[in-house]
Amino acid sequence: MVLGKQGAGKGTQCVRLSHHFVVPHISTGEMLRAAVKSRSPLGLKAREMMDRGELLGDDIIMEMVGQRIAEPDARARGFILDGCPRTTHQAEMLADLLAPIDIDLTVDIEVPTAQVLRRLAGRRVCTDCGANYSVDAPPKVNWTCDMCGGEVVQRPDDTEEAIRRRLDLYEHETAPLIDWYDARDQLVRVNGVGSPDVVLRRIIRSLEQRQARRRGGSSRRRRRPESPEPASPTDGGPSN
Ligand code: ADP
Repeated sequence: MVLGKQGAGKGTQCVRLSHHFVVPHISTGEMLRAAVKSRSPLGLKAREMMDRGELLGDDIIMEMVGQRIAEPDARARGFILDGCPRTTHQAEMLADLLAPIDIDLTVDIEVPTAQVLRRLAGRRVCTDCGANYSVDAPPKVNWTCDMCGGEVVQRPDDTEEAIRRRLDLYEHETAPLIDWYDARDQLVRVNGVGSPDVVLRRIIRSLEQRQARRRGGSSRRRRRPESPEPASPTDGGPSN
């Protein structure tokens, strides 16, 4: 599971992690945007809330996630969860859905707020496949997606007002999950400042270190920081 502020690079890293570990990437934001696009009953209900940057109800979200993780690919391979849980109540509901197993690890991608604000202002996304671009790193041809040829636009919830609301909700509703998972020894913190490839390498290294520690037989309850990652403000580059 991946946590991080809006613009921290969750979507970008989850796509890469899903290729690396060959597991499905389950993104509640992407599922909801697909529902909006197809004008399904869920999409019609979700659209206005999403455009304002509000959170949808926990029951709707968890029903959608419950159905998705019950599909054969997720059952067979596991999955990377992006955008859920976003509240402590969702985390409890997720634990119930997954029992008797539990999520393996939560990665918290850490990026200062000033930097995510800069990234979000320039973020552009493909309306078909969700690939991320920015005004500094646009698609090669005329705002059509390099991957699928879809139209690349600014997300309707990347307005200043909706961004402010989403960051506020993140701080109050979602950030408490960092301590929640840390207390369960399920948290890995990763510096998210840097190019997407640099951040990906950090995440994979942290996950591998954690897995090796578990295989080494140390208690799941014992907490020890992963090897410290030097801050790398100079390797900026487009992300998220
Ligand atoms: P971001 O992290 O940039 O806000 P997402 O793509 O993850 O974007 O989500 C877009 C919107 O979808 C959210 O602002 C919210 O309205 C809705 N949403 C996504 N996931 C959840 C969730 N777990 N709980 C409630 N609402 C959600």
